[in-house]
Amino acid sequence: MAKKFACSSIGMQCGWEASAKDENALMKQVAAHAKKAHNMSKIDDATMHKIRDAIEEE
Ligand SMILES: [Zn+2]
Repeated sequence: MAKKFACSSIGMQCGWEASAKDENALMKQVAAHAKKAHNMSKIDDATMHKIRDAIEEE
């Protein structure tokens, strides 16, 4: 089952969305985006939790 994530779903003023074949692949895309677009070199635990809650089945 594919997974998808929208940055706006965790309250970011951002229109970025991504989907991937599984959660691990999606999290890699999210981490790369967070670093590039939001200047987060590391995603903290609280944010990681929000992201996992916001991931939806596609
Ligand atoms: Zn974003």
